[in-house]
Amino acid sequence: MTKSRPCPICRKPRSEEFAPFCSARCRDRDLASWFNEGYAIPGPAVEPEDELRDED
Ligand SMILES: [Zn+2]
Repeated sequence: MTKSRPCPICRKPRSEEFAPFCSARCRDRDLASWFNEGYAIPGPAVEPEDELRDED
């Protein structure tokens, strides 16, 4: 049904340029998540979640 999968980070339509992400921002976000796992920082990550506001 879904021919093109959305960005795994924010679920927006992804860009061919930044596939499988929608933007360089989400690509960096994904890398950051990997680094965060490595560092195992306590508590939730403090960052704006404007990428997640796609519920409308
Ligand atoms: Zn994205």
